[in-house]
Amino acid sequence: MTFLFLDTVPVAAGTVSVAFTDRRLDVGDLAAADVRTAGLAEIARVTGATPCLMHQVHGTAVHLVADPDETVPDADALVTQDAGVALLARAADCVPVLLVADTGAVAAVHAGREGVRRGVVPNAVSRLRDLGAGGIRGWVGPHICGRCYEVPEELQAEVAAAVPATRSTTSWGTPALDLGAGVLAQLAAAEVSTTEVAGCTREDARLHSHRRDGAAAGRLAGVVWRAA
Ligand SMILES: [Zn+2]
Repeated sequence: MTFLFLDTVPVAAGTVSVAFTDRRLDVGDLAAADVRTAGLAEIARVTGATPCLMHQVHGTAVHLVADPDETVPDADALVTQDAGVALLARAADCVPVLLVADTGAVAAVHAGREGVRRGVVPNAVSRLRDLGAGGIRGWVGPHICGRCYEVPEELQAEVAAAVPATRSTTSWGTPALDLGAGVLAQLAAAEVSTTEVAGCTREDARLHSHRRDGAAAGRLAGVVWRAA
């Protein structure tokens, strides 16, 4: 079993799979090249699809993938209508989100503090709807929880002003953000039915965490693909 979590969903055009990796793989840009290459090769092997990465910049851009071998784009959401392409959203505390449209189109989204505040997840939902999606389902992957993600009070106020559900308090009583609650609120507002994949990255040693492991932290991935 390569994945922490794996689920399959019937869609109009076949079957879509959604999965999240854990510490057994590191697909981060800072991983040693052979480690990252091995991680991507393992994902390609078990999915039977071509892994497709983005250069995540904490923005709101949604990139439509037509050719998985194209240059890695600057984006925080990838969308494809094609079978045989495995979209990756990489994270270590940020929220990886996977979306599956009834049409068979899929999206992988990286939602960190800025992405949640600026609405990258609703942007990705809108793009799927523009492409003809009716029903959309979402999976919210492992991320740092609202009891662990301490931030300065001004930062909490800035994000909570945009997404009130993010306001939280750490288990030690200081200002915090609950990015997962923010994403869940955004998905609910967009009428996306959502599954939460449990696990706080900081507390669960099976997961990569930037807050726990610092700059050397690896990256887990949300992976979504339609069988070719
Ligand atoms: Zn936690």
